[in-house]
Amino acid sequence: GTFADLGLKKSTVKHLEAVGYLHPSEIQQKFIPPAVTGADCLGQSQTGTGKTAAFMLPVIERLEDPTQDPQVLVLCPTRELSEQVAEETRKLCKDDIDIVVVVGGRPLRNQMKQVEQGVDIVVGTPGRVIDLFKRKSLSFAGLKTVVLDEADRMLDIGFRPDMEYILKNCPKDRQTLLLSATLPPEVERLSSRFMRDPIRIDI
Ligand code: AMP
Repeated sequence: GTFADLGLKKSTVKHLEAVGYLHPSEIQQKFIPPAVTGADCLGQSQTGTGKTAAFMLPVIERLEDPTQDPQVLVLCPTRELSEQVAEETRKLCKDDIDIVVVVGGRPLRNQMKQVEQGVDIVVGTPGRVIDLFKRKSLSFAGLKTVVLDEADRMLDIGFRPDMEYILKNCPKDRQTLLLSATLPPEVERLSSRFMRDPIRIDI
């Protein structure tokens, strides 16, 4: 198959070819078509399968003109994964989209300044995201999509209360995308509380 078959814009497909993405991986083939319609999607997949592009391409495709408040929030279990997701996203989106990484262990002021300058996509770990939210630096009011990447690992680390706090404070009519290597009962519970009729994708 090709990316053109998945419901992405021609300009996106062209850009993907330019960065060397000619054929979608299995998770991309299955995840992109429902996610690009705005539906909630729950995907079971491991790293190394192309899962980052599977959830970021639909999200990038659905971005509207830049607003002051971020449109997309991606929660990740670690600093390293947050940075990898941001790096992959920059590769997928032609420099015209502002992404900020918001993680612990880095100067807070700097991240606050970046967020307050206006940003399209925020990628980060739950603790630091809440910190910026409580300081009124980061607003959830304009979020159209929230992504929970490696949800099982986030729960293992003990981020459940933070994840729930964030999701409760996000707009109700948002899209929620959840990716997880495994689907234990805790992930199912999170999904049933915070997702609306999610489409399930297993690979
Ligand atoms: P991920 O599973 O998201 O960590 O991606 C694994 C690696 O595969 C990353 O280095 C991506 O840049 C690369 N990748 C993802 N999708 C494709 C694709 N369709 N074609 C070529 N490389 C890809």
